[in-house]
Amino acid sequence: MSEKFDLPHESDMVPQKLELGSTIKFHCHKGVSCFNACCKQADLTLTPYDVIRLKDSLGMSSAEFLKAHTVPYQMDQHGVPGLKMRTDDTGACLFVTDEGCSVYANRPTACRYYPLGHMAMKHKDADSDETHYFLIQEDHCKGHEEPKEQTINEYRKELGIVDYDGYNKEWLQILLKKKSAGPTVGQPPESSLQLFFMASYDMDRFRRFVMSEQFRNTYDIEESSYEVLAKEDIALMQFGVRLMKQVFFGERTIAENKDAWEKRVEQRQPLWDMQREAEIARKQQEEDEKYKAD
Ligand code: SF4
Ligand code: SF4
Repeated sequence: MSEKFDLPHESDMVPQKLELGSTIKFHCHKGVSCFNACCKQADLTLTPYDVIRLKDSLGMSSAEFLKAHTVPYQMDQHGVPGLKMRTDDTGACLFVTDEGCSVYANRPTACRYYPLGHMAMKHKDADSDETHYFLIQEDHCKGHEEPKEQTINEYRKELGIVDYDGYNKEWLQILLKKKSAGPTVGQPPESSLQLFFMASYDMDRFRRFVMSEQFRNTYDIEESSYEVLAKEDIALMQFGVRLMKQVFFGERTIAENKDAWEKRVEQRQPLWDMQREAEIARKQQEEDEKYKAD
């Protein structure tokens, strides 16, 4: 079973499979005649790490960043939520300037990869997935005509992709695993999809959720871990991935309080009693109305 993800740009071409040691001939720099051309037709999928880097560099909260710079979309037929970078009406990235990218040091993973595509493959019985690469050759991109040659490994290091891949890996594995599992995982409930969005992209809201009394009553987590989660977005993002794997695939890495279910029942019992009484009263009224009519 194989799946591709995070293709930076749409392309109809059939890719030639490349490995880390494969040599590519490509160089993007300010002197190319097409400088900025790719940023003027940007179709960028964002990862959770991309969102953290960008919102921090812009001094925005996650909610402010999501509103101003992203557009949600559905990544699969079950409605797993993804994020695209917002563009202007012509399709140009909001961060492109005549001088180049205004968020260059914190630009998203997809921008770093282009024109390299990558494809994760998970064989049915294998424990881990493997990644293959391919070169996207589009007419407008003149970087392919430049003489510079380097291996894919060298290219990944030079463009800062290695670090980004390290932070993206676990989250991308959720998508790959869900796709690889096919119909056995099935349609996640709406609450799981909402958790996926919040834990993936909206760190401020996810932090409030994790710090809430209800969450603390449900999960058995050390106070020292809460202190880290209260301050550090990356740690919170990584915790979110564990929580999502627990919710989606039952991978239990976060201990639950033994009496969490009993406490939840205890808290909700008055509400349930009230709902039951209201339902009995409604049925009684229906019966009374029927007899009156008879
Ligand atoms: S974020 Fe920067 S590199 Fe990426 S499309 Fe926008 S301007 Fe171009
Ligand atoms: S060489 Fe390719 S990647 Fe670089 S600016 Fe031109 S179109 Fe974009």
